[in-house]
Amino acid sequence: MGKKTLSSVRGMNDLLPADAPVWEWFEARVTDWLRSYGYQQIRTPVVEYTEIFVKGIGEVTDIVEKEMYSFEDRLNGEHLTLRPEFTAGVMRAIVEHSLTYDAPRRLWSMGPVFRHERPQRGRYRQFHQVNVEAVGFAGPDIDAEMIAMLARLWKILGIECVGRVRLEINCLGQTEERLRHRGDLISYLTRFEDQLDADARRRLHTNPLRILDSKNPALSDIIAGAPRITEYLGEASRAHFDGLQVLLRAAGIEFTVNPRMVRGLDYYNLTVFEWITDALGAQGTLCGGGRYDPLIERMGGKPTPGIGFGMGIERVIELIKEAGAAEACPAADVYVLHQGGPTRTQAFLVAERLRDAGLDVVLHAGEASMKSQMKKADASGAQFAVIIGETELASGTATVKALRAGDASQPFARQATFALDALGDALVDGLVATSETA
Ligand code: ATP
Ligand code: MG
Repeated sequence: MGKKTLSSVRGMNDLLPADAPVWEWFEARVTDWLRSYGYQQIRTPVVEYTEIFVKGIGEVTDIVEKEMYSFEDRLNGEHLTLRPEFTAGVMRAIVEHSLTYDAPRRLWSMGPVFRHERPQRGRYRQFHQVNVEAVGFAGPDIDAEMIAMLARLWKILGIECVGRVRLEINCLGQTEERLRHRGDLISYLTRFEDQLDADARRRLHTNPLRILDSKNPALSDIIAGAPRITEYLGEASRAHFDGLQVLLRAAGIEFTVNPRMVRGLDYYNLTVFEWITDALGAQGTLCGGGRYDPLIERMGGKPTPGIGFGMGIERVIELIKEAGAAEACPAADVYVLHQGGPTRTQAFLVAERLRDAGLDVVLHAGEASMKSQMKKADASGAQFAVIIGETELASGTATVKALRAGDASQPFARQATFALDALGDALVDGLVATSETA
């Protein structure tokens, strides 16, 4: 390894205990939110056959061209890839298990994805996504619902504040419309061929739409003058796009139409959208999605319309932290102290009894002076310390010390002794009284 100490792979980070509460808070809010819109969870493997992603994402894309972690299984020579996104695997599962056989589906997933990119703020090699797909719906009502659902999530997470999270939409039309646009786009860009960068020149004839997506500032003038897909839309596509906008306006959701947003993948059609924030520097896209009506057929299923999005959890978490929106991780209710020897066994049993009563309990482990244990109890944030010393052991009791705010609101004196039978009830009453006065 050539390194003195062991470390994680570059761009792949540990989630440390200090950060775990905000992730747990986020995951709980998201799970409730998805349920409230009728979504069901689907969990697909982290590894799929490489061809699933090549088919599902498209050959001429950043992901397939240069970002996938692909390898050959040493034991049987199979070509495998760590998922760089969820959609392809979810579509594979839908086709494999005929999930849309009798009804449309609203599906969600959450977990790690892997892309070999240059690590920087907001861009990692292992990152996490919430992925949502609605298959079997032709829209535009479901398109609007999906976007409204996200607008609601930003509120739930407390990050919706004006200017922080904004919505851009576009309509990519259908294949024939895109082909006409593509022809004109290639002629237009060819006029500037000597000014294009290497990426753009390479894509000029393979995926010219993607050039419109380029983040190279040297190309921005050329891109600004390029033919716009929205001018090539036929009546049906236009009606779909108008239908979406009518619903968004009715719901009071602000948006801008960005005719240069193409979202890179060639199977996208009609609606595409992104939620963007300026609060995170260059990596400001929180969430991107769109309609992919041709995809399921391409993956070997019956023609089935669909729309979905992927949300970058790291970026959303960073915004939540900035907004200070997550609730603090609740501390345990009780910290149990003992004096070692036989009091340790008693404390062990008392802690289990308190958990039976529904309390969250931290039991002191190891030997330490009462003074040092009291310090730990206090630092733990628990409401109560329960002390099992020699006296308590002999009399079958426990001493309870209220650790927080010792004012009149306390349900009992700062310190009291309870028979073990009454201890659980007394602490539960104490917690209820404390939360009522808080
Ligand atoms: P970008 O333009 O930032 O590279 P993308 O178009 O590649 O984004 P998608 O494939 O649409 O991104 O993925 C959905 C979301 O996942 C993005 O909007 C972003 O929030 C997040 N994301 C994408 N790549 C990374 C990464 N390397 N590290 C962290 N989050 C990422
Ligand atoms: Mg990318």
